[in-house]
Amino acid sequence: MKYKGRFGDYGGFYVPEALIPVLEELEQAFYRFHNDEQFVSELAQLSKDYAGRPSPLYYAKRFSEHVGFKVYLKREDLLHGGAHKINNTLGQGLLAKYMGKTKLIAETGAGQHGLATAMVGALFGMETKIFMGVTDIERQSVNVHKMKLCGAEVIPVEGGTGTLKDAINDALRYWTANVADTFYLFGSVCGPHPYPTVVKHFQLCIGKEARQQCLDQIGRLPDMIIACVGGGSNAIGIFSGFLDDRDVKLIGVEAGGRSIKSGKHAATLVVGRVGILHGAKAYLLQDKEGQVYETESVSAGLDYPAVGPEHCLLKDSGRAQYVAAEDAEVLDAFELLSKSEGILPALESAHALAFLCGQKGRLAPDTIAVVNLSGRGDKDVGIVEKHRPL
Ligand SMILES: *Cc1c(COP(=O)(O)O)cnc(C)c1O
Repeated sequence: MKYKGRFGDYGGFYVPEALIPVLEELEQAFYRFHNDEQFVSELAQLSKDYAGRPSPLYYAKRFSEHVGFKVYLKREDLLHGGAHKINNTLGQGLLAKYMGKTKLIAETGAGQHGLATAMVGALFGMETKIFMGVTDIERQSVNVHKMKLCGAEVIPVEGGTGTLKDAINDALRYWTANVADTFYLFGSVCGPHPYPTVVKHFQLCIGKEARQQCLDQIGRLPDMIIACVGGGSNAIGIFSGFLDDRDVKLIGVEAGGRSIKSGKHAATLVVGRVGILHGAKAYLLQDKEGQVYETESVSAGLDYPAVGPEHCLLKDSGRAQYVAAEDAEVLDAFELLSKSEGILPALESAHALAFLCGQKGRLAPDTIAVVNLSGRGDKDVGIVEKHRPL
């Protein structure tokens, strides 16, 4: 088991003894059901009727005119809940049901994953607890309210800095003691094996659809795919559709927000060093003593001090490139997409758009770029207003 779930030397299974049987049960259930005919057809039905898949591929003509090359948007923002997160929570929620579990738990930082879990908790009639740091509860009160409206209980986590990292620790601890009836619905392609593999599986639909849509609508594959990277699930979802197409560049954009501790700009894959957090080996934001530090950017949804193990491998191999976008560039990109297309992007997704704005005038006009528009920006209007009053 120690060597399972490896992406090169990354990932793995660095957990306390008590969690090993729990994760093994999950792994076995995942491999048993993920290709099961009934499971696949039930998930396909829900993805269509409940979540709204397939999501469109949209040619953003006026945005393209601004940057000087062709930009297409994979519209995950149009899904139920307003982001790609529903792909994963529907998949894992259904897996929980097939495993005979009756309760869901999840961690959340900005609240989006907590909300997407609360939604499927209601859908499947499961008692749902969301672990959330006290700092985040205060910052994300609207999402807390929405989770409660969906019938979930929000458990305040006092330890550490009261953020996502601490919420994950508490959720793992709670799970160890309550595994008989409880399923831990993890939010991104991070954490111990099998989560990076499980979450990736349920996000593969993004890349599969996008590749086929490119062939049908454009008549060829794009030159580049761009996605924002927090834990890395929306990026892995779209990248995976194009991994074998060597001519398609894959670009991940992290938040270049400031470290809470040092005030320095920080992006995990750009400045991080290899270490272990939440059961997996990956690039981490850590100081000289190996203390993990957190960042604060304009988009709380990208502020996680680690990143999925597969991204670490893709960075080392050079198959994908990772860059950081700064808050000011992100806000500019948010405004540009809103004004040119009437589409308010999530601030997370605006990181990917900011990269394209930075390429203005540098790429041939027939270049085709596909951006994974991971979510819609309604949730971020208050933050944008604070930084850029109208
Ligand atoms: C949560 C979130 C992200 C970051 O998570 P990943 O696992 O990196 O995809 C990005 N965009 C939106 C809209 C989100 O809600």
